Amino acid sequence: MSMTTSSLADRQTRPAAIGTENRSSTLLDAEAIRAEFPILAQINARGQRLAYLDSAASAQKPSQVLDALDDYYRRYNANIHRGVYGLSELATNAYEAAREQVAAFINAQARECIFVRNTTEAINLVAQTWGRANLCPGDLIINTVLDHHSNLVPWQLLAQQTGARTAYVPIRADGQLDLAVYETLLAQGPKLVAFSHVSNAVGTVNDAAWLTQRAKAAGATVVIDAAQSAPHRPLDVQSIGCDFLAFSGHKVMGPMGSGVLFGRYELLAEMPPFMAGGGMVASVSLDGSVWADPPARFEAGTPAVGEAIGLGIATGYLDNLDRSAVAAHEEHLAELARAGLSEIPGVELHGPLSASARSGIVGFTVEGLPPGEVAKVLDAEHVAVRAGRHCCHPLFNVLGLDAIIRASFYVYNTEDDVTRLISGVEKARGLLGPRSFTGTAPGHSGDPCARRLIA
Ligand code: PMP
Repeated sequence: MSMTTSSLADRQTRPAAIGTENRSSTLLDAEAIRAEFPILAQINARGQRLAYLDSAASAQKPSQVLDALDDYYRRYNANIHRGVYGLSELATNAYEAAREQVAAFINAQARECIFVRNTTEAINLVAQTWGRANLCPGDLIINTVLDHHSNLVPWQLLAQQTGARTAYVPIRADGQLDLAVYETLLAQGPKLVAFSHVSNAVGTVNDAAWLTQRAKAAGATVVIDAAQSAPHRPLDVQSIGCDFLAFSGHKVMGPMGSGVLFGRYELLAEMPPFMAGGGMVASVSLDGSVWADPPARFEAGTPAVGEAIGLGIATGYLDNLDRSAVAAHEEHLAELARAGLSEIPGVELHGPLSASARSGIVGFTVEGLPPGEVAKVLDAEHVAVRAGRHCCHPLFNVLGLDAIIRASFYVYNTEDDVTRLISGVEKARGLLGPRSFTGTAPGHSGDPCARRLIA
């Protein structure tokens, strides 16, 4: 086999849309980037191209990632770490090179990065290992009302299992976290603080470094849900100072079933395993087993090898684009969308009032129109958005909303996508007419989490 894994990575992570000479440019050529995502070439029966505005749910994948997956399965598909033959060594090297790549993506050490299936699994891993080993009855866990179910329910379960208690940082009228309440809760000496860096429902960007620094000063361990920040902005676990951080591969243009848990090595080294089986042990006898060192300790069984390799390629692709430029591009589109939508009578925008606290996510409702129906009209215009409660039921209860429409922007979106969104919403108003909206029962809102809850 002539190709080494590093030459493979070098060739595959460079977006064709960007050359070395404009590496530091803050302007992205979104049309050129878009051309690297085969799925976006789709045209509907009316000749409309796909305006994909649901990247907060799952991002599309560039050819570089698709090729890496294809290459793995066609050329060197083999189990890792256990084989001495060429294919297995190639697969092992590529898998470990991907770990180095994702570590560089968040400025961590490779041994601090555990491959998991997604953010949900990463947070459950921390709750069921570090959490069960460290929390006692009466200990305080702090979350925020902005958090996704994946960063709420694992802590609720842990509280049930250990007798710990939970408290939530509310939001103020301007849509941002109430930091005065946060300080009051911190004064109670919490054991754990877990928060999302960026809200998936309304796009609020929290100051992760500041929240972490305050929590650490109060003696807490800090877990950050970076599912909505890792894909979109520079992320440095060392400058943030957190103990754990989780993100999903499928939202950073990587394959489904790939994700990363970062944990500070001193903590990982003390933690018991999450799942037990092959690959996570140093030795096994009939009397007991000795755990392998991290990260292997937390990767029981055969991992998703090709998917981890694809994730490494995806993070390299994003790094080559310059993640500050990625954030600036998305925020520009989101602000354009907000400006255009706010001109439409009956449209209400949700999310923080301050532009500096907003990301590339735009949440809105149209007076008198059920969000799911607006989304269907947009779909007929080949504009893909999501409507529902976005796995944030507590937040929606606080906001007094049944559901919202969410348009989320990424590197491959263009100003044309914004125009299509705005004209689609105008069309929905025209077609559906203002009706009285009596609310959506869980399971009928188009919210996949609600469906999952009643399934
Ligand atoms: N946290 C946030 C903020 C999210 O947006 C999501 C996905 N919508 C998750 C956690 C869960 O991600 P996954 O389903 O990939 O585990």
